[in-house]
Amino acid sequence: MAKKMKDYQIFKCPFCGSEYFDDTARKGKSIGNPSIKCPYCKQVAYRKNVYEPALLDENRHFDIRFSSLYSNFRTGMICLYAVFLFFILITKDFALAMSFIVAAAVIFALYIIIRVVHKKNYLESPEYEVEITRSLTRLSDVNYAIRVIKNQGIDETSVYYYQLHQNGNGES
Ligand SMILES: [Zn+2]
Repeated sequence: MAKKMKDYQIFKCPFCGSEYFDDTARKGKSIGNPSIKCPYCKQVAYRKNVYEPALLDENRHFDIRFSSLYSNFRTGMICLYAVFLFFILITKDFALAMSFIVAAAVIFALYIIIRVVHKKNYLESPEYEVEITRSLTRLSDVNYAIRVIKNQGIDETSVYYYQLHQNGNGES
């Protein structure tokens, strides 16, 4: 899969100040391994914009995973609406205005349906399963888990939270 440079970020090591190209996490929020090892000083830092998936509620996981996709879609729709509104104001065509309102409502309904179906498919996909399995493997290191939870917290509906309480260390 081709990686576009501009989608990724330059990471500045908090220990030695070295800057390097981080191709393991996209700009903005993303899902994955928040730890990153500096190639210069070899210290491990934790990125606050990368979320360990097993600590997340599945709805939050989906929102973070696809936030740029849906925000790009919303931005595109707003631009389209602005162009149409401008056109209607210029022409003062009320029939056109009515059909625009209907079209906007249909597109909005479709957007909601597509998002619901997409979420259901994603959460049942092998891809999601793999993300969670890898995440649980990383979190089996207790020191790592404590460090990451300190950074990003833990959702009470997350897989990791559920597992902790299943194993039941006398906590309730
Ligand atoms: Zn460093």
